[in-house]
Amino acid sequence: MTFRADLEIVAAALESQVAAARGRRTPVLAQRPLLDLIEDLHLVRLAREGGLTGEALQRFTDAYLDSIINLHQPGYMGHQVAVPHPAASLGALIDGLTNNPMAIYEMGPGAAAIEWFVINWMLEKVGWTPAPAESGQRADRTFGGGVLTHGGSLANLTALIAARSALRPDAWCRGDQGDLAVIAPESNHYSIDRAVGILGIGTRNIYRVPCDSRGAMRPETLPQILARIRADARTPLALVANACSTAVGVYDPLRPIGELCRELGIWFHVDGAHGASALLSTEYRHRLDGVELASSLTWDAHKMMRTPSVCAALLVRDHRTIDSAFSQQASYLFHDKEQPGFDFLHRSVECTKSAMGLRFFMVLAALGEQGLARYVEHQYRLAEQVHDYLNGIDGIEVAVTPESNILCLRLPGTDARQLTLRDGILDHGDFYITSTEFQGRRWLRLVFMNPETTLEDVKRLVGQLQAMEPLKSDGAVG
Ligand SMILES: *Cc1c(COP(=O)(O)O)cnc(C)c1O
Repeated sequence: MTFRADLEIVAAALESQVAAARGRRTPVLAQRPLLDLIEDLHLVRLAREGGLTGEALQRFTDAYLDSIINLHQPGYMGHQVAVPHPAASLGALIDGLTNNPMAIYEMGPGAAAIEWFVINWMLEKVGWTPAPAESGQRADRTFGGGVLTHGGSLANLTALIAARSALRPDAWCRGDQGDLAVIAPESNHYSIDRAVGILGIGTRNIYRVPCDSRGAMRPETLPQILARIRADARTPLALVANACSTAVGVYDPLRPIGELCRELGIWFHVDGAHGASALLSTEYRHRLDGVELASSLTWDAHKMMRTPSVCAALLVRDHRTIDSAFSQQASYLFHDKEQPGFDFLHRSVECTKSAMGLRFFMVLAALGEQGLARYVEHQYRLAEQVHDYLNGIDGIEVAVTPESNILCLRLPGTDARQLTLRDGILDHGDFYITSTEFQGRRWLRLVFMNPETTLEDVKRLVGQLQAMEPLKSDGAVG
Protein backbone atom coordinates (compact mmCIF):
# COMPACT_ATOMS: atom_id res chain seq x y z
CA MET A 1 0.00 0.00 0.00
CA THR A 2 1.12 3.52 -0.67
CA PHE A 3 1.14 6.36 1.82
CA ARG A 4 -1.64 7.98 -0.18
CA ALA A 5 -3.86 4.90 -0.05
CA ASP A 6 -3.30 4.52 3.70
CA LEU A 7 -4.01 8.19 4.16
CA GLU A 8 -7.33 7.75 2.42
CA ILE A 9 -8.21 4.86 4.73
CA VAL A 10 -7.46 7.00 7.76
CA ALA A 11 -9.19 10.06 6.32
CA ALA A 12 -12.38 8.13 5.57
CA ALA A 13 -12.42 6.56 9.04
CA LEU A 14 -11.88 9.93 10.69
CA GLU A 15 -14.51 11.62 8.59
CA SER A 16 -17.21 9.12 9.48
CA GLN A 17 -16.16 9.08 13.13
CA VAL A 18 -16.31 12.85 13.43
CA ALA A 19 -19.62 12.98 11.54
CA ALA A 20 -21.16 10.41 13.89
CA ALA A 21 -19.83 12.30 16.89
CA ARG A 22 -21.10 15.65 15.68
CA GLY A 23 -24.47 14.05 14.97
CA ARG A 24 -24.59 12.80 18.58
CA ARG A 25 -24.90 9.24 17.23
CA THR A 26 -22.00 7.88 19.20
CA PRO A 27 -21.25 7.97 22.93
CA VAL A 28 -18.79 10.57 24.13
CA LEU A 29 -16.98 7.89 26.07
CA ALA A 30 -17.44 4.16 26.41
CA GLN A 31 -14.66 2.99 28.70
CA ARG A 32 -13.53 -0.59 28.46
CA PRO A 33 -10.92 -2.40 30.54
CA LEU A 34 -7.30 -1.94 29.55
CA LEU A 35 -6.66 -5.60 28.86
CA ASP A 36 -9.70 -5.80 26.57
CA LEU A 37 -8.35 -2.90 24.56
CA ILE A 38 -4.91 -4.42 24.24
CA GLU A 39 -6.64 -7.49 22.85
CA ASP A 40 -9.13 -5.69 20.58
CA LEU A 41 -6.42 -3.52 19.09
CA HIS A 42 -4.29 -6.64 18.48
CA LEU A 43 -1.33 -4.85 19.98
CA VAL A 44 0.69 -7.97 20.73
CA ARG A 45 0.33 -9.47 17.26
CA LEU A 46 0.93 -6.18 15.44
CA ALA A 47 4.02 -5.42 17.49
CA ARG A 48 5.40 -8.87 16.74
CA GLU A 49 4.51 -9.10 13.05
CA GLY A 50 4.24 -5.55 11.81
CA GLY A 51 2.30 -4.98 8.60
CA LEU A 52 0.08 -2.11 9.69
CA THR A 53 -1.10 -1.02 6.27
CA GLY A 54 -4.12 -1.51 4.02
CA GLU A 55 -6.83 -3.67 5.57
CA ALA A 56 -4.85 -4.14 8.76
CA LEU A 57 -4.63 -0.37 9.09
CA GLN A 58 -8.34 -0.10 8.43
CA ARG A 59 -9.18 -2.57 11.20
CA PHE A 60 -6.74 -0.98 13.60
CA THR A 61 -8.02 2.54 12.92
CA ASP A 62 -11.64 1.47 13.37
CA ALA A 63 -10.81 -0.29 16.62
CA TYR A 64 -8.80 2.67 17.84
CA LEU A 65 -11.56 5.15 17.04
CA ASP A 66 -13.86 2.90 19.04
CA SER A 67 -11.66 3.38 22.09
CA ILE A 68 -11.42 7.17 22.17
CA ILE A 69 -13.08 9.91 24.12
CA ASN A 70 -14.99 11.80 21.47
CA LEU A 71 -14.27 15.48 21.85
CA HIS A 72 -16.23 16.20 18.67
CA GLN A 73 -19.42 14.94 20.33
CA PRO A 74 -21.27 18.04 21.60
CA GLY A 75 -21.94 16.14 24.84
CA TYR A 76 -18.25 16.53 25.62
CA MET A 77 -18.11 19.11 28.42
CA GLY A 78 -15.03 17.83 30.16
CA HIS A 79 -11.45 18.89 30.58
CA GLN A 80 -10.05 22.02 29.00
CA VAL A 81 -8.60 20.60 25.83
CA ALA A 82 -9.44 22.00 22.43
CA VAL A 83 -11.90 20.33 20.12
CA PRO A 84 -9.49 20.67 17.23
CA HIS A 85 -10.33 22.49 14.08
CA PRO A 86 -9.76 20.10 11.13
CA ALA A 87 -7.25 22.52 9.62
CA ALA A 88 -5.11 22.16 12.73
CA SER A 89 -5.14 18.40 12.41
CA LEU A 90 -3.70 18.83 8.93
CA GLY A 91 -0.94 20.87 10.52
CA ALA A 92 -0.31 17.98 12.92
CA LEU A 93 -0.17 15.59 9.98
CA ILE A 94 2.26 17.72 8.01
CA ASP A 95 4.47 18.12 11.07
CA GLY A 96 4.12 14.43 11.83
CA LEU A 97 5.60 13.43 8.50
CA THR A 98 8.12 16.22 8.01
CA ASN A 99 9.16 16.35 11.69
CA ASN A 100 11.05 19.62 11.76
CA PRO A 101 12.50 20.14 15.25
CA MET A 102 12.70 23.84 14.66
CA ALA A 103 14.37 25.08 17.85
CA ILE A 104 17.34 25.84 15.63
CA TYR A 105 16.38 27.68 12.50
CA GLU A 106 18.08 25.42 9.99
CA MET A 107 16.12 22.43 11.34
CA GLY A 108 12.84 23.99 10.22
CA PRO A 109 13.04 27.49 8.77
CA GLY A 110 9.35 27.62 7.88
CA ALA A 111 8.26 26.39 11.31
CA ALA A 112 10.61 28.85 13.02
CA ALA A 113 9.26 31.70 10.91
CA ILE A 114 5.72 30.69 11.86
CA GLU A 115 6.64 30.54 15.56
CA TRP A 116 8.23 33.96 15.28
CA PHE A 117 5.09 35.30 13.61
CA VAL A 118 2.70 33.63 16.07
CA ILE A 119 4.62 34.94 19.09
CA ASN A 120 4.51 38.46 17.66
CA TRP A 121 0.81 38.11 16.89
CA MET A 122 0.18 37.09 20.51
CA LEU A 123 2.37 39.89 21.88
CA GLU A 124 0.27 42.40 19.97
CA LYS A 125 -2.92 40.94 21.42
CA VAL A 126 -1.51 41.45 24.91
CA GLY A 127 -0.55 45.02 24.11
CA TRP A 128 3.20 44.39 24.16
CA THR A 129 5.71 45.40 21.51
CA PRO A 130 6.38 42.67 18.98
CA ALA A 131 9.97 41.89 18.10
CA PRO A 132 11.37 43.75 15.12
CA ALA A 133 11.91 41.43 12.21
CA GLU A 134 14.82 43.21 10.60
CA SER A 135 18.43 42.78 11.51
CA GLY A 136 20.40 45.75 12.66
CA GLN A 137 17.79 46.50 15.35
CA ARG A 138 19.26 47.47 18.67
CA ALA A 139 18.78 44.34 20.69
CA ASP A 140 18.75 46.27 23.96
CA ARG A 141 15.56 48.05 23.04
CA THR A 142 12.53 46.96 24.98
CA PHE A 143 10.27 44.73 23.03
CA GLY A 144 8.51 41.50 23.80
CA GLY A 145 9.51 37.92 23.27
CA GLY A 146 8.31 34.43 23.79
CA VAL A 147 8.50 30.81 22.94
CA LEU A 148 6.05 28.04 22.16
CA THR A 149 6.26 25.24 24.69
CA HIS A 150 4.84 21.75 24.97
CA GLY A 151 2.10 22.86 27.33
CA GLY A 152 1.12 25.53 29.80
CA SER A 153 2.81 23.72 32.67
CA LEU A 154 6.14 24.05 30.91
CA ALA A 155 5.34 27.67 30.09
CA ASN A 156 4.72 28.36 33.79
CA LEU A 157 8.01 26.68 34.69
CA THR A 158 9.81 28.74 32.05
CA ALA A 159 8.26 31.92 33.44
CA LEU A 160 9.59 31.22 36.93
CA ILE A 161 13.03 30.34 35.53
CA ALA A 162 13.07 33.66 33.69
CA ALA A 163 11.95 35.43 36.87
CA ARG A 164 14.76 33.85 38.86
CA SER A 165 17.38 34.70 36.27
CA ALA A 166 16.13 38.30 36.28
CA LEU A 167 16.25 38.59 40.07
CA ARG A 168 19.42 36.53 40.64
CA PRO A 169 21.48 36.35 37.47
CA ASP A 170 24.07 34.12 39.12
CA ALA A 171 21.56 31.62 40.52
CA TRP A 172 21.80 29.67 37.26
CA CYS A 173 25.40 28.83 38.00
CA ARG A 174 25.58 28.97 41.80
CA GLY A 175 22.14 27.79 42.79
CA ASP A 176 19.91 30.03 44.82
CA GLN A 177 20.43 31.12 48.37
CA GLY A 178 17.40 29.33 49.71
CA ASP A 179 15.54 32.52 50.53
CA LEU A 180 13.06 32.89 47.68
CA ALA A 181 9.28 33.02 47.99
CA VAL A 182 6.51 32.79 45.41
CA ILE A 183 3.15 34.47 45.90
CA ALA A 184 0.17 32.73 44.35
CA PRO A 185 -3.57 32.52 44.88
CA GLU A 186 -5.13 29.64 46.80
CA SER A 187 -6.62 28.64 43.47
CA ASN A 188 -3.45 28.39 41.40
CA HIS A 189 -2.97 25.50 38.98
CA TYR A 190 -0.85 22.68 40.38
CA SER A 191 1.78 23.29 37.70
CA ILE A 192 2.84 26.37 39.69
CA ASP A 193 3.54 24.22 42.73
CA ARG A 194 5.44 21.80 40.51
CA ALA A 195 7.54 24.57 39.00
CA VAL A 196 8.38 25.84 42.49
CA GLY A 197 9.30 22.31 43.53
CA ILE A 198 11.41 21.72 40.42
CA LEU A 199 13.26 25.01 40.94
CA GLY A 200 14.20 23.91 44.44
CA ILE A 201 12.44 26.87 46.05
CA GLY A 202 10.28 24.51 48.04
CA THR A 203 6.50 24.48 47.84
CA ARG A 204 6.23 25.48 51.49
CA ASN A 205 7.64 28.82 50.37
CA ILE A 206 4.57 29.57 48.32
CA TYR A 207 2.65 32.30 50.12
CA ARG A 208 -1.03 31.83 49.32
CA VAL A 209 -3.20 34.84 48.65
CA PRO A 210 -6.69 34.47 50.10
CA CYS A 211 -9.53 34.47 47.58
CA ASP A 212 -13.04 35.88 47.80
CA SER A 213 -16.21 33.80 47.62
CA ARG A 214 -15.84 33.66 43.82
CA GLY A 215 -12.35 32.26 44.09
CA ALA A 216 -10.65 35.44 42.85
CA MET A 217 -7.55 36.80 44.52
CA ARG A 218 -8.07 39.57 47.08
CA PRO A 219 -5.37 42.12 46.25
CA GLU A 220 -5.99 44.06 49.46
CA THR A 221 -4.41 41.18 51.37
CA LEU A 222 -1.12 41.48 49.50
CA PRO A 223 0.61 44.09 51.74
CA GLN A 224 0.13 41.77 54.69
CA ILE A 225 1.56 38.83 52.79
CA LEU A 226 4.55 40.89 51.69
CA ALA A 227 5.14 41.89 55.30
CA ARG A 228 5.08 38.24 56.29
CA ILE A 229 7.61 37.41 53.58
CA ARG A 230 9.88 40.16 54.88
CA ALA A 231 9.48 38.96 58.46
CA ASP A 232 10.48 35.48 57.29
CA ALA A 233 13.62 37.04 55.74
CA ARG A 234 12.60 35.93 52.28
CA THR A 235 12.60 37.66 48.91
CA PRO A 236 9.59 37.49 46.61
CA LEU A 237 10.58 35.90 43.33
CA ALA A 238 7.28 36.31 41.55
CA LEU A 239 3.58 36.84 42.04
CA VAL A 240 1.30 34.58 40.02
CA ALA A 241 -2.29 35.39 39.10
CA ASN A 242 -4.93 33.35 37.29
CA ALA A 243 -6.60 34.40 34.07
CA CYS A 244 -8.69 32.40 34.59
CA SER A 245 -8.68 29.86 37.41
CA THR A 246 -8.87 26.21 36.48
CA ALA A 247 -11.62 25.10 38.86
CA VAL A 248 -14.34 27.67 38.24
CA GLY A 249 -12.89 29.89 35.49
CA VAL A 250 -12.76 33.18 37.39
CA TYR A 251 -10.27 35.93 36.54
CA ASP A 252 -8.06 37.53 39.20
CA PRO A 253 -8.10 41.36 39.22
CA LEU A 254 -4.92 41.85 37.20
CA ARG A 255 -4.70 45.65 37.24
CA PRO A 256 -4.38 46.33 40.98
CA ILE A 257 -2.09 43.33 41.37
CA GLY A 258 0.02 44.42 38.41
CA GLU A 259 0.28 47.99 39.69
CA LEU A 260 1.48 46.80 43.08
CA CYS A 261 4.04 44.48 41.48
CA ARG A 262 5.32 47.25 39.29
CA GLU A 263 5.63 49.61 42.25
CA LEU A 264 7.59 47.03 44.24
CA GLY A 265 9.57 45.60 41.32
CA ILE A 266 8.13 42.12 41.69
CA TRP A 267 7.90 39.82 38.67
CA PHE A 268 4.22 39.46 37.80
CA HIS A 269 3.28 36.25 36.01
CA VAL A 270 -0.22 35.83 34.62
CA ASP A 271 -1.28 32.22 34.15
CA GLY A 272 -3.66 32.61 31.24
CA ALA A 273 -3.32 29.05 30.00
CA HIS A 274 -7.06 28.77 29.60
CA GLY A 275 -8.42 32.30 29.68
CA ALA A 276 -5.90 34.46 27.79
CA SER A 277 -7.78 33.72 24.58
CA ALA A 278 -10.40 36.21 25.74
CA LEU A 279 -7.85 38.83 24.62
CA LEU A 280 -9.11 38.19 21.09
CA SER A 281 -12.62 39.35 21.94
CA THR A 282 -13.60 42.99 22.19
CA GLU A 283 -16.48 41.80 24.35
CA TYR A 284 -14.46 39.82 26.90
CA ARG A 285 -10.95 41.23 26.81
CA HIS A 286 -11.75 43.46 29.80
CA ARG A 287 -11.61 40.34 31.96
CA LEU A 288 -7.82 40.61 31.51
CA ASP A 289 -7.69 44.34 32.11
CA GLY A 290 -4.18 45.17 33.30
CA VAL A 291 -2.51 42.13 31.70
CA GLU A 292 -0.07 44.46 29.96
CA LEU A 293 1.41 45.24 33.39
CA ALA A 294 2.62 41.64 33.68
CA SER A 295 6.19 40.50 33.17
CA SER A 296 5.09 37.22 31.61
CA LEU A 297 1.98 35.45 30.40
CA THR A 298 1.18 31.79 29.76
CA TRP A 299 -1.32 31.29 26.93
CA ASP A 300 -2.31 27.85 25.64
CA ALA A 301 -3.42 27.41 22.05
CA HIS A 302 -4.50 23.84 22.77
CA LYS A 303 -7.21 25.02 25.13
CA MET A 304 -9.34 27.83 23.71
CA MET A 305 -7.86 28.15 20.23
CA ARG A 306 -9.03 24.94 18.58
CA THR A 307 -5.47 23.58 18.34
CA PRO A 308 -4.62 19.93 19.03
CA SER A 309 -2.30 19.16 21.92
CA VAL A 310 0.19 20.43 22.54
CA CYS A 311 0.80 24.06 21.79
CA ALA A 312 1.26 26.71 24.44
CA ALA A 313 3.07 30.01 24.62
CA LEU A 314 5.13 31.79 27.20
CA LEU A 315 5.22 35.50 26.40
CA VAL A 316 7.35 38.11 28.13
CA ARG A 317 7.07 41.88 28.00
CA ASP A 318 10.85 42.26 27.71
CA HIS A 319 12.54 39.74 25.41
CA ARG A 320 15.79 40.03 27.36
CA THR A 321 14.22 38.18 30.29
CA ILE A 322 13.55 35.06 28.23
CA ASP A 323 16.76 35.41 26.25
CA SER A 324 18.75 35.27 29.48
CA ALA A 325 16.53 32.81 31.33
CA PHE A 326 18.73 29.78 30.79
CA SER A 327 22.19 31.22 31.01
CA GLN A 328 24.16 33.72 32.94
CA GLN A 329 25.37 35.60 29.93
CA ALA A 330 22.65 36.07 27.41
CA SER A 331 23.52 36.93 23.95
CA TYR A 332 21.08 39.79 23.75
CA LEU A 333 21.72 40.05 20.08
CA PHE A 334 19.09 38.72 17.79
CA HIS A 335 21.11 38.59 14.67
CA ASP A 336 24.59 37.90 15.86
CA LYS A 337 25.03 34.68 13.99
CA GLU A 338 26.28 34.16 10.51
CA GLN A 339 23.35 32.04 9.41
CA PRO A 340 19.94 33.42 8.58
CA GLY A 341 16.93 33.24 10.84
CA PHE A 342 16.32 32.99 14.57
CA ASP A 343 17.03 30.11 16.94
CA PHE A 344 14.53 29.45 19.71
CA LEU A 345 16.74 26.91 21.45
CA HIS A 346 18.07 29.25 24.12
CA ARG A 347 14.52 30.16 25.17
CA SER A 348 13.18 26.69 25.81
CA VAL A 349 13.43 23.87 28.31
CA GLU A 350 13.03 21.46 25.42
CA CYS A 351 15.78 20.59 22.99
CA THR A 352 13.73 18.81 20.33
CA LYS A 353 10.64 20.90 19.74
CA SER A 354 7.81 20.11 17.35
CA ALA A 355 6.48 22.62 14.85
CA MET A 356 3.71 23.61 17.25
CA GLY A 357 3.22 26.95 15.60
CA LEU A 358 2.11 25.24 12.42
CA ARG A 359 -0.78 23.47 14.17
CA PHE A 360 -2.01 26.71 15.67
CA PHE A 361 -1.33 28.83 12.62
CA MET A 362 -3.42 26.61 10.41
CA VAL A 363 -6.46 27.21 12.66
CA LEU A 364 -5.77 30.91 12.67
CA ALA A 365 -5.46 30.91 8.91
CA ALA A 366 -8.63 28.85 8.48
CA LEU A 367 -10.87 30.87 10.82
CA GLY A 368 -9.10 34.20 10.78
CA GLU A 369 -8.65 36.02 14.08
CA GLN A 370 -12.26 37.20 13.94
CA GLY A 371 -13.40 33.62 13.60
CA LEU A 372 -11.38 32.59 16.64
CA ALA A 373 -12.74 35.54 18.59
CA ARG A 374 -16.29 34.51 17.71
CA TYR A 375 -15.59 30.99 18.93
CA VAL A 376 -14.38 32.27 22.31
CA GLU A 377 -17.39 34.60 22.60
CA HIS A 378 -19.81 31.85 21.67
CA GLN A 379 -18.44 29.54 24.36
CA TYR A 380 -18.37 32.23 27.06
CA ARG A 381 -21.91 33.27 26.18
CA LEU A 382 -23.13 29.68 26.39
CA ALA A 383 -21.90 29.53 29.99
CA GLU A 384 -23.89 32.70 30.75
CA GLN A 385 -27.01 31.23 29.16
CA VAL A 386 -26.61 27.99 31.10
CA HIS A 387 -26.16 30.01 34.27
CA ASP A 388 -29.43 31.88 33.64
CA TYR A 389 -31.19 28.62 32.89
CA LEU A 390 -29.91 26.87 36.01
CA ASN A 391 -30.77 29.82 38.21
CA GLY A 392 -34.41 29.14 37.51
CA ILE A 393 -34.26 25.53 38.71
CA ASP A 394 -35.03 24.64 42.30
CA GLY A 395 -32.39 22.61 44.05
CA ILE A 396 -29.56 23.38 41.65
CA GLU A 397 -26.80 25.52 43.00
CA VAL A 398 -24.22 27.27 40.83
CA ALA A 399 -20.76 27.93 42.29
CA VAL A 400 -20.15 31.35 40.73
CA THR A 401 -21.51 33.52 37.95
CA PRO A 402 -19.34 32.31 35.08
CA GLU A 403 -16.64 34.59 33.71
CA SER A 404 -15.46 32.13 31.08
CA ASN A 405 -16.75 28.90 29.54
CA ILE A 406 -16.45 27.00 32.82
CA LEU A 407 -19.54 26.42 34.95
CA CYS A 408 -19.79 24.49 38.22
CA LEU A 409 -23.04 23.26 39.68
CA ARG A 410 -24.34 21.07 42.47
CA LEU A 411 -27.46 19.05 42.93
CA PRO A 412 -28.93 18.42 46.39
CA GLY A 413 -27.01 15.93 48.46
CA THR A 414 -23.55 15.28 49.79
CA ASP A 415 -20.20 15.60 48.07
CA ALA A 416 -20.25 11.85 47.56
CA ARG A 417 -23.61 12.21 45.87
CA GLN A 418 -22.12 14.61 43.30
CA LEU A 419 -19.49 12.02 42.43
CA THR A 420 -22.15 9.34 42.12
CA LEU A 421 -24.06 11.61 39.77
CA ARG A 422 -20.98 12.10 37.63
CA ASP A 423 -20.39 8.35 37.49
CA GLY A 424 -23.99 7.92 36.37
CA ILE A 425 -23.56 10.47 33.58
CA LEU A 426 -20.39 8.77 32.38
CA ASP A 427 -22.08 5.35 32.43
CA HIS A 428 -24.87 6.74 30.30
CA GLY A 429 -22.37 7.87 27.65
CA ASP A 430 -24.22 10.86 26.17
CA PHE A 431 -22.15 13.37 28.14
CA TYR A 432 -18.74 13.74 29.64
CA ILE A 433 -18.31 16.07 32.60
CA THR A 434 -15.76 16.45 35.37
CA SER A 435 -15.92 17.44 39.01
CA THR A 436 -13.89 19.80 41.11
CA GLU A 437 -13.49 20.97 44.66
CA PHE A 438 -14.27 24.61 45.29
CA GLN A 439 -14.69 26.40 48.64
CA GLY A 440 -14.44 23.08 50.41
CA ARG A 441 -17.25 21.41 48.50
CA ARG A 442 -17.50 19.07 45.50
CA TRP A 443 -19.08 20.43 42.32
CA LEU A 444 -19.97 19.05 38.93
CA ARG A 445 -17.93 20.95 36.40
CA LEU A 446 -18.91 21.72 32.82
CA VAL A 447 -16.41 23.24 30.41
CA PHE A 448 -17.88 24.26 27.09
CA MET A 449 -15.07 23.48 24.66
CA ASN A 450 -17.11 22.06 21.80
CA PRO A 451 -18.39 24.78 19.44
CA GLU A 452 -21.52 22.73 18.69
CA THR A 453 -22.70 22.23 22.26
CA THR A 454 -26.03 24.00 22.75
CA LEU A 455 -28.24 25.03 25.64
CA GLU A 456 -30.50 22.14 24.59
CA ASP A 457 -27.63 19.70 25.21
CA VAL A 458 -27.18 21.12 28.70
CA LYS A 459 -30.92 20.83 29.35
CA ARG A 460 -30.77 17.15 28.41
CA LEU A 461 -27.79 16.69 30.70
CA VAL A 462 -29.67 18.34 33.57
CA GLY A 463 -32.63 16.10 32.79
CA GLN A 464 -30.41 13.04 33.15
CA LEU A 465 -28.98 14.36 36.40
CA GLN A 466 -32.42 15.03 37.83
CA ALA A 467 -33.69 11.62 36.77
CA MET A 468 -30.89 10.11 38.85
CA GLU A 469 -31.56 12.35 41.80
CA PRO A 470 -33.56 10.81 44.65
CA LEU A 471 -34.67 14.28 45.74
CA LYS A 472 -36.30 13.39 49.05
CA SER A 473 -34.22 10.50 50.30
CA ASP A 474 -30.83 12.13 49.95
CA GLY A 475 -31.54 15.73 50.73
CA ALA A 476 -28.73 16.18 53.23
CA VAL A 477 -26.56 19.07 52.21
CA GLY A 478 -22.90 18.10 52.30
C1 LIG B 1 -4.63 24.02 31.97
C2 LIG B 1 -3.92 24.96 32.85
C3 LIG B 1 -2.55 24.84 33.04
C4 LIG B 1 -1.75 23.68 32.52
O1 LIG B 1 -1.57 23.78 31.15
P1 LIG B 1 -1.16 22.47 30.30
O2 LIG B 1 -1.14 22.98 28.91
O3 LIG B 1 -2.25 21.47 30.55
O4 LIG B 1 0.16 21.99 30.79
C5 LIG B 1 -1.92 25.79 33.82
N1 LIG B 1 -2.62 26.80 34.36
C6 LIG B 1 -3.95 26.96 34.18
C7 LIG B 1 -4.64 28.12 34.81
C8 LIG B 1 -4.65 26.03 33.41
O5 LIG B 1 -5.97 26.18 33.25
